[in-house]
Amino acid sequence: MEKKQFKAESKRLLDLMINSIYTHREIFIRELISNASDAIDKMYYKALTDESIKFNKDDYYIEIIPDKGNRVLKIRDTGIGMTKEELEENLGVIAKSGSLSFKKENELKDGYDIIGQFGVGFYSAFMVADKVTVTSRAVGSDSAWKWVSDGADGYTVEPAEKETHGTEICLELKQSTEDEKYDDYLEDYRLRSLIKKYSDFIRYPIKLEATRT
Ligand code: ADP
Ligand code: MG
Repeated sequence: MEKKQFKAESKRLLDLMINSIYTHREIFIRELISNASDAIDKMYYKALTDESIKFNKDDYYIEIIPDKGNRVLKIRDTGIGMTKEELEENLGVIAKSGSLSFKKENELKDGYDIIGQFGVGFYSAFMVADKVTVTSRAVGSDSAWKWVSDGADGYTVEPAEKETHGTEICLELKQSTEDEKYDDYLEDYRLRSLIKKYSDFIRYPIKLEATRT
């Protein structure tokens, strides 16, 4: 399978996030939950204008699923999902949101400030994960796609299976070190407190599944 490269800017930010000694890695959860919430918002607005979509509020929620046995954390939403093209376009380029300006070189050198202050988005996943798999199915589409990346050298996209529209982000956590206990992100108490700290204002239910062992 052909491996595609990240755009130059994306690669710079990725390197910064992966390599900087950054103490607030935990904000990845804020970023991924906010993306999930945005995706459900988009679903909501689409339903307003598209009669073929029935927006039933109970069907829209975010799930956080820790899997201790595999050291994997999943964030799943029932939002609008992404087509193959959207996966490549949205996840292959950093700072699409414009929340991050690359003009200020000096700020970039100080990873702490820039990451702490701004939403850095999806790529923050690589602060805690060696490998990230995004499985998504766009609403109205009957095919699903899987975007896979280990951060460093690009990504691949291949067909996948998914029963309903929405997106699942699967984080294969880094090995714990003395400085950062990545395994803590699989603990219910830790996840619960992070969700409270960063995502208290999210309008959709956030379901934390019991840890699988
Ligand atoms: P931002 O959220 O500021 O646009 P991100 O880096 O967080 O930037 O995300 C980039 C883009 O990837 C989003 O704008 C969106 O189009 C897409 N995306 C990310 N996560 C999801 C998701 N869970 N569902 C649908 N689209 C998503
Ligand atoms: Mg975002």
